[in-house]
Amino acid sequence: MNLQGKVALVTGSTSGIGLAMAINFAKLGAKVVINGLGDQDAIEAAKSAVQDAGSGDVIYNAANMLDPDAISAMVEQAETSFGSVDILVNNAGIQHTCSVDAFPKEKWDAIIGINLSSAFHTSQAVLPGMQKRDYGRIINIASVHGLVGSVEKSAYVAAKHGIIGLTKVTALENAERNITVNAICPGWVRTPLVEVQIKALAEKEGVDLEEAARRLLAAKEPSLRFTTPQELAEGAAFLCSPAASNMTGTSLVMDGGWTAQ
Ligand code: NAD
Repeated sequence: MNLQGKVALVTGSTSGIGLAMAINFAKLGAKVVINGLGDQDAIEAAKSAVQDAGSGDVIYNAANMLDPDAISAMVEQAETSFGSVDILVNNAGIQHTCSVDAFPKEKWDAIIGINLSSAFHTSQAVLPGMQKRDYGRIINIASVHGLVGSVEKSAYVAAKHGIIGLTKVTALENAERNITVNAICPGWVRTPLVEVQIKALAEKEGVDLEEAARRLLAAKEPSLRFTTPQELAEGAAFLCSPAASNMTGTSLVMDGGWTAQ
């Protein structure tokens, strides 16, 4: 597979799944725009990792996914510097666990804003260029929580169900063009976002981190192993491959059997 000549923008790519996707796109020849929060050292390390994987054509943009104007400016920077945005991965996301009755209102707004509304704003910003060039691949990183619920994750589950709806509508509106819009639904992936939940379980049940991780998997994921960021990066690359060119509006579920139960 070759993505030479293509430009990929991955939101939330200073860490975890997004970083693995950005590195893989660079490896496949794409120019890459990375984005995300973090301290300067972490951002520089992420940028270097993406640069070293490919041609070196990498831009970091600091847009906060809660700020629609910053999102427009990020897309404009990508189009001005690299000529287009051909692949958009809406990946930035956060989590907060708490029952509905006690869920902090500001956490609800932040999760809906970062995990769902930002994907609307980025899609709206990239679509005119994709439509003009008659080429685009939009990949929304949803979750098994776009398909099923879990306790104490109301905002996250609502946002992820929402992003699957947004995926379908954006796909339908562009179905006659060479623009596909799909979601990926991972099960557990061992990134900083999940490490917090492993730590909380370890503290609650008085076990070490590895035992907590094992219990987390045993409760939900029949394969009893984490999906890896690299597997998800290869899933995203597949959605950009010729084999997937007539796949649109669907979800690629990579969850070790979680939603088969
Ligand atoms: P992560 O914490 O490693 O990465 C999240 C990324 O989003 C980071 O780069 C962070 O800086 C960025 N981000 C957070 N808030 C932002 C903001 N306001 N503006 C810009 N960037 C922001 O987490 P991850 O596990 O790699 O998560 C990536 C995506 O995968 C998320 O959408 C998450 O919901 C989804 N997901 C994760 C899992 C899992 O088990 N880890 C499972 C299913 C889906």
